[in-house]
Amino acid sequence: GEHRPTDLLAGLDPDQLAAVRAPRGPVCVLAGAGTGKTRTIVSRIAALVRAGHVTAGQVLAVTFTTRAAGEMRTRLRAMDVHGAQARTFHAAAWKQLRYFWPRVVGDAPWDLLDGKLRLVGQAAHRAGTGTEREALRDLAGEIEWAKASLIGPEDYPAAAARARRDPPAAPELVAKVYAGYEALKNDARVLDFDDLLLHTAAALEEHSAVAEEFRDRYRCFVVDEYQDVTPLQQRVLDAWLGERDDLTVVGDANQTIYSFAGASPRPLLDFTRRFPEATVVRLERDYRSTPEVVSLANRVIGAARDRPAGSRLRLIGQRPPGPNPRFAEYDDEPAEAAAVAARIRELVDGGVALSEVAVLFRVNAQSEVYEQALTELDIPYLVRGGERFFARQEVRQAMAALRTAAGSDPGGELPALVRALLVPLGLTEEPPPGGRQRERWESLLALVELAEELVATEPGADLRRYAAELEQRAQSQHPPTVEGVTLASLHAAKGLEWDAVFLVGLVEGTMPIQHADGDDAAIEEERRLLYVGVTRARVHLSLTWALARAEGGKRYRRRSRFLYGVIPDNDPASRPAASRQREQRVVERPRFCRVCGDQLHGVMPTKLGRCSDCPADLDEGLLDRLREWRMERSKALRVPA
Ligand code: ATP
Ligand code: MG
Repeated sequence: GEHRPTDLLAGLDPDQLAAVRAPRGPVCVLAGAGTGKTRTIVSRIAALVRAGHVTAGQVLAVTFTTRAAGEMRTRLRAMDVHGAQARTFHAAAWKQLRYFWPRVVGDAPWDLLDGKLRLVGQAAHRAGTGTEREALRDLAGEIEWAKASLIGPEDYPAAAARARRDPPAAPELVAKVYAGYEALKNDARVLDFDDLLLHTAAALEEHSAVAEEFRDRYRCFVVDEYQDVTPLQQRVLDAWLGERDDLTVVGDANQTIYSFAGASPRPLLDFTRRFPEATVVRLERDYRSTPEVVSLANRVIGAARDRPAGSRLRLIGQRPPGPNPRFAEYDDEPAEAAAVAARIRELVDGGVALSEVAVLFRVNAQSEVYEQALTELDIPYLVRGGERFFARQEVRQAMAALRTAAGSDPGGELPALVRALLVPLGLTEEPPPGGRQRERWESLLALVELAEELVATEPGADLRRYAAELEQRAQSQHPPTVEGVTLASLHAAKGLEWDAVFLVGLVEGTMPIQHADGDDAAIEEERRLLYVGVTRARVHLSLTWALARAEGGKRYRRRSRFLYGVIPDNDPASRPAASRQREQRVVERPRFCRVCGDQLHGVMPTKLGRCSDCPADLDEGLLDRLREWRMERSKALRVPA
């Protein structure tokens, strides 16, 4: 091969270079968000290949999301490295499993499970427990935790108690549903997501010929986002490695956000205990965000309690100064969403690309009000990490049609083939004017674009490969890319970056999430999640919250505890709502609540002429106490200096 190490290493800082140039063997990069960890490992792979230490085909890099894996492949190609594997743990395992399956099991590879909740529902029904969607989702999540933690049904009750889980049903009942689910799944000869990893590890552990062949094929392993590795993923990684130590890991313990699902930063923090000869590199220059964003990120994570040794890294911003992060409080969620949409319009009109804007929320249910607000302003968006795309009727119909067609193997040019198959479902030449029909059309078009994307990266891809890619994306809830503002959960945003980021719904009960309340470890994970959110922004960052959910809503919600001490004192949002209202006296004719006497403003007043949080009928004694309470509340809202 040709050696062009200089251009490859150009632009890397000395610490990044140390990681890139480290000899073969264990390397660990411990560093904060935006410091170039991902960029560093990509460069390291390229450097190792260029120097002839390994061939590209011998490299296996695992990352957290399909999109991140895709980006890694793109960056490797840009560095002229072709054929290196960059995949999620699951995708890598699935590929290997299909290859080994005939030797390990003997019959045709099993299919991926489609409709997990249905199976969990059957098992729950047989076990005699609740089968509402919400309950099934919790049960499925708990089973996933157990599998990721390498805990079988029999051991579940004891392990759940040890791990201080908060099981969705009596632990014995969960164990019963878990066992029932496994049995149903095996009878149906299908594999769930975790099975891909379990079977891959087992194949390598129990079949020495398989392990030898595999270890001969892959010689260099790289793991991004290593702080969120689960025991199950670690077991797969160990099976891949065998006795070898050619492993590069990068991670940031402050970004551990999947410990609820069994992940742990311990393997990252204890890396040198396992590999005492490892090269350890710490990066602290932040290349992603403006100093304003970096400083906010430092404040958010600086308040964290019990940070493990090795996670105490401060970020030093490298980019030129930018605008201050914005903080704003709204009366209700529709008002918050409308303001966010209006601001996005402003940014986009000012030259920020749609694909460079993200609205990030804690739970996917928050997405809807933003979808409405964006639609209102004609701003295209895509929902990432939600179930929406793959739950859409037309997408499910399309996937069924594609699966059937793939079976008959029409060998035709892929995108044209896909388009032809989707025309009967509503993929007209011209886009329909709007509404549901338009949405349907957009999803179908996205499926065609995905086919185009696939053949661009894998020129030989056929319909069967495409159908498999779709299944995989459906499993990992990774909808295809459409040009638009990204709506995503904070969890789905990890590793990614945008010019403008909106962190919305920052109220108690949502961020931190309700069920974290009273659980210190869970609260700290919520704080890290906010840190992940803040550090996604390159330039524009906005943090917002609303005091009521619905328009004129009654329930008074408090801003997130994570905001205290984080909003600068000179920001108007740092002061309680009441004092700001006095400043913004733009209400034409002031109105006052007939219960508590406060001035009414904005969309808050109800038809009855009282505050949304004032009860309708009050006696005088209660009224006094309410006034007192409102005073207290105002004091509590004041941010400490
Ligand atoms: P995260 O923890 O969020 O995954 P990360 O540490 O992986 O962050 P990267 O995504 O690799 O960070 O890099 C963040 C941004 O900084 C990217 O846009 C990357 O191209 C840029 N970057 C990284 N290193 C440098 C450098 N030495 N000079 C200029 N830009 C850099
Ligand atoms: Mg990264």
